Amino acid sequence: MGREIFCPACGDTVTKSDNNSPVLDFNCLRCREEYELKSSKIIFSRRIVDGAYATMIERLQGSNNPNFFLLNYSPRDYEVSNFFVIPKHFFVPEIIEKRKPLSESARRARWVGCNIVLQSIPQTGKIFYVKDKQIQQREAILQTWKKTLFLREEKEISAKGWVLDVMRCVDSLAKKEFTLDEVYGFEQALQAKHPGNKHIKDKIRQQLQLLRDKGYLEFKGKGKYRVI
Ligand SMILES: [Zn+2]
Repeated sequence: MGREIFCPACGDTVTKSDNNSPVLDFNCLRCREEYELKSSKIIFSRRIVDGAYATMIERLQGSNNPNFFLLNYSPRDYEVSNFFVIPKHFFVPEIIEKRKPLSESARRARWVGCNIVLQSIPQTGKIFYVKDKQIQQREAILQTWKKTLFLREEKEISAKGWVLDVMRCVDSLAKKEFTLDEVYGFEQALQAKHPGNKHIKDKIRQQLQLLRDKGYLEFKGKGKYRVI
């Protein structure tokens, strides 16, 4: 399958890694990005099951987690219904959910796995190659990838969490143009999430400014913004 997938970072073909690991890995020989493929007959919606919780958190903190390719296929004819990539820079601990430890009687007793909470990832963090069986434009895939690369510059995970929070707020407004007041509408929700922070509105403005500086948003003046 790797033969048909291009690397969303550089456009070159990705190759299946020839290792013996149980996961299906792909990498790009040109730009060295690494991808882990997960496939399922069931459409990925809210969350997906992943490996050990502790390993995942450790990898996130060391920024050596891979990008994820997620594939849904129809069990009848194996036709691809959805195929998308989640860039690794969208992974923060809060999207990793701890599962209940396995029981004492299990072979791996007390082992703790994790789920990746897909619905906590902003829209731009799910880049579709195929959506509802429709093939998406190659150029758009490459561009969307580039659009959020700035998140890699943010090494501090809590600071990155804030940018992602505000990106999600903008997503939920579901429109191209919006106002600062509309984003302030999420103040309470953000306050609940960050109870120690006394300056939520300042924090919102600061993230919007950052998103503007990084070319993710455009500032139209008078408290108006536009998603690029
Ligand atoms: Zn590449």
